[in-house]
Amino acid sequence: MRRFFCPPRPVPGSASRCLRIVLLVCLGLLGAGCSEPAPLQDVRFPAMGTLVRLRVAAPASPALDATLAGVETELVAFGHDWWAWGDGALGELNRNLAGAPCVPMPPAMAPLLRRSMTLATASGGRFQPLVGPLVRLWQFHAAPRPLAPAPSAAAIAALLPLPAPTTVAVRDTHLCAPPGSWIDLGGIAKGEAVRRAAARLQAAGLGDAVVEAGGDLVALGRRHGQPWRIGIADPRGPGVLGELHLTGGLAAFTSGDYERTFTEGGRRYHHILDPATGYPVAGVRGVTVVDPDPVLADAAATALFVAGDADWPAVAAMLGVRAVLRVTAAGRLEATPAMLAYLRLPAGEEPVRVELPAPAASANR
Ligand code: ADP
Ligand code: MG
Repeated sequence: MRRFFCPPRPVPGSASRCLRIVLLVCLGLLGAGCSEPAPLQDVRFPAMGTLVRLRVAAPASPALDATLAGVETELVAFGHDWWAWGDGALGELNRNLAGAPCVPMPPAMAPLLRRSMTLATASGGRFQPLVGPLVRLWQFHAAPRPLAPAPSAAAIAALLPLPAPTTVAVRDTHLCAPPGSWIDLGGIAKGEAVRRAAARLQAAGLGDAVVEAGGDLVALGRRHGQPWRIGIADPRGPGVLGELHLTGGLAAFTSGDYERTFTEGGRRYHHILDPATGYPVAGVRGVTVVDPDPVLADAAATALFVAGDADWPAVAAMLGVRAVLRVTAAGRLEATPAMLAYLRLPAGEEPVRVELPAPAASANR
């Protein structure tokens, strides 16, 4: 109870005042609700091709409603602007790139595009924003339209190799890229979207909240004094395989093979492509990354999903993320020591502990 009315950290002389505020509120309510934590406001709306959910531990009020409505408006506009295939800013930039090597770009787009190319390079091209032509060939951009059949090997080979992320020059007012480039930020844009939404809630004084978009999220503060308990979707079933206990602005992002998927000839196809082969990544069901930076967590989850059994610890170190959970195709759980601090699994479930190499001294944050 007390923490809802007191500063998060005690400041000299504040304790007695806090106590008084609690007492006054309790008296004012005639005791009703004083043993109850602040109620949870829970709203959902479609944006960015997925379902967004906002949970805020705060009493209902017109100001809160206005803030949540503002977040909704911002995320719907964000999804329109950053959808690679629509009539928003990124779609227009891509269409213009088909006709010219350098195209005008609204300056507000530069930071996320720059960050995308930096993280793409740091991941060794496994997170690859220039994957657009392959995504279109596989028609993953058109889901939920029927996705089968898979494209021919020749059609895939004709699009490879993809240009290196370093070939894209992001200037302040224009962008230059090799011919045939199509930038798809589907692997990172949700990270930026939830970052913006969380910042908006915090700016409105809503410090205990979860912003979630299609299972990816940022957990601000706490829920009624306890960590937020976040279920991790089981890649092969309707339930959860465990929980993450998160506080203090940590982000959790998952890339899984269970989204936009189809089966053909006994093989499972899904929407995360290995930029080196042009085919959906095999050998892994899901990767979850926890990090204070949602943009990094989103890009890293995609990169580590692509990285494969042998390489993923090194790629995590290259990107500078420490908390990783990976579910292999055989259903084996692998977790880093940093992830184990957040992870709660059913009794008897013991993940394989994977130590990461020392992080690269890079500026990925
Ligand atoms: P989700 O969108 O389910 O959260 P991801 O963050 O991994 O999963 O993003 C997958 C999307 O990113 C795909 O739908 C596609 O648009 C794009 N994509 C596919 N493969 C890659 C890749 N290797 N690197 C970057 N983006 C990719
Ligand atoms: Mg991602």
